Amino acid sequence: RVKEKGKAHFQFYRSEMNSIINNVVELETFLRKAIDKNELTLYYQPQIDLKTMKITSYEALLRWNNHELGFISPADFIPLAEDTGLIIPIGTWVIETACKQIKDWSDKGEKDFKVAINISPKQFQQHSLLTIIQKAIEKHRIHPKCLEIEITEGAMQDTKDTSPILSGLKDLGVSISVDDFGTGYSSLSYLKKFPIDVLKIDKSFVKDVHVNEKDAAITTTIIHLGRSLGMEVIAEGVENDEQAQFLLNANCHKAQGFLYSKPLPADEIEKNFMNINE
Ligand code: C2E
Ligand code: MG
Ligand code: MG
Ligand code: MG
Repeated sequence: RVKEKGKAHFQFYRSEMNSIINNVVELETFLRKAIDKNELTLYYQPQIDLKTMKITSYEALLRWNNHELGFISPADFIPLAEDTGLIIPIGTWVIETACKQIKDWSDKGEKDFKVAINISPKQFQQHSLLTIIQKAIEKHRIHPKCLEIEITEGAMQDTKDTSPILSGLKDLGVSISVDDFGTGYSSLSYLKKFPIDVLKIDKSFVKDVHVNEKDAAITTTIIHLGRSLGMEVIAEGVENDEQAQFLLNANCHKAQGFLYSKPLPADEIEKNFMNINE
């Protein structure tokens, strides 16, 4: 009887496993078609200068809406896209779409803004990445200073591939930002090796920065570190006035978070934040 029960359990486990595996395979099948079926969009979240309270830039964040599966969060499909290599075509779509958006906003008279795009570690192993970005800039005739790329510390580790890409981007005039700074278990030596413009303090440090001494110490130290190295520092995940006040007092340059705006579709960014007359 024990054996039978064990077997039943095993079968239950098997079918659970199968449904999980099927879901991943299903998700992959859907994701493969997402670009062609126009299911991907970029939302944009304002980044604010804490002193002037003016918007300086927008982070482009990928959104996937599938007819059958509904809305899927980037936290769920970006890792899958990374594992399956789909991040390469998806990443190219993001670069292309963001450059097109920069062109559109420039044409509509918007000045002195940047769009920051997220580039995953896998995309950094792609030798054509620099060419893809360069081609997109040329194709859409945008100013490279309007483009910023966000990469995590993890992507900074493969020095052999990373260094030429980052110097190439720098030469083009694209700025480089380290996303989720302080969470990557990585040595700080890349900060002197690579031409980095911006440090983004991870939202896990920002969350309790106004009430937790350790978070406050880490955040203050990152701001000093960035400033000493001539970089700009931006805090992500800012949700309340207390956090914003702390960051301003600590001399942080910029902030991004729900306090100012959630990520929005391009047309809502125009309506809410830009002086564009249609
Ligand atoms: P990330 O680049 O660190 O982006 C910040 C995340 O924080 C975004 O989540 C954003 O919506 C969220 N966020 C913004 N303000 C707040 C706030 O005040 N509080 C909290 N709790 N969260 C806030 P999202 O859009 O779900 O994206 C998650 C991650 O997926 C991103 O983290 C990034 O690593 C990845 N991702 C998103 N779009 C792309 C993309 O186009 N390409 C690549 N490779 N990765 C992307
Ligand atoms: Mg980011
Ligand atoms: Mg981040
Ligand atoms: Mg993050």
